[in-house]
Amino acid sequence: MTPRWFARLAAALLGTLIPASCLATPPPSGGGTFADDRARMVGAQIEARGIRDPAVLAAMRKVPRHLFVPESFRGQAYGDHPLPIGLGQTISQPYIVALMTELAHPRKGMKVLEVGTGSGYQAAVLAEIVGTVDTIEIIPELGRRAEKTLREMAYDNVRVHIGDGFDGRPKDAPFDAILVTAAPETIPPPLLDQLVEGGRLVIPVGSTQQELLVVTKTNGGYRRETVVPVRFVPMKGKVEGHPP
Ligand code: SAM
Repeated sequence: MTPRWFARLAAALLGTLIPASCLATPPPSGGGTFADDRARMVGAQIEARGIRDPAVLAAMRKVPRHLFVPESFRGQAYGDHPLPIGLGQTISQPYIVALMTELAHPRKGMKVLEVGTGSGYQAAVLAEIVGTVDTIEIIPELGRRAEKTLREMAYDNVRVHIGDGFDGRPKDAPFDAILVTAAPETIPPPLLDQLVEGGRLVIPVGSTQQELLVVTKTNGGYRRETVVPVRFVPMKGKVEGHPP
């Protein structure tokens, strides 16, 4: 096992669990902007575990994660763990956000779909790099809250949709990349159909045991790579009626 792979494995196993130790994370020190906390987060949690894409590192340094978490958790926003965002859902650990973004191979001008808006943070990180982000959230209250947060931060290239991401966005397809931030037991077929040739689907798959997969649409087929074990909240809705 290479050191980089080991670091990924250890970090990803933290996944979206909320360890009790997160309550002991010291409060951010950065006054109003938390820029120092973000710089430390990127160095210690993200670069140290092998994320190298300069655009991803710059986006993680820039997006104010503390504004995407409930006020009572702001002091822990830059800790190395996920956090609750209400309604039984979580904002993923910063490393996982960076890893999924890098795996999507984001470039200027790309059209990206996210399934699982949650707080809107992953959408904001993507929006710093790509052309447009369509993001779908199944819990209306969360989707509306994320939309407000993103609007207040002037992320004009993000569109939030309320609905079941199982179906993707046929009206807006095809997409250069699709990221799914809740785990289905099987890959929803519409998401594969909505990739461009060469497009990448980054998705956690499984129930108690989950793997982060990258599926690339290639000449008439799909290439599937397993990246690392992860722990995400389950995907809800139609997918629950599709046994593995
Ligand atoms: N990406 C989010 C962020 O940056 O805060 C974190 C996502 S949270 C781990 C997973 C989200 O997926 C939850 O908000 C959940 O409600 C949503 N979700 C679950 N099943 C879904 C579905 N079928 N369609 C759309 N969203 C779904």
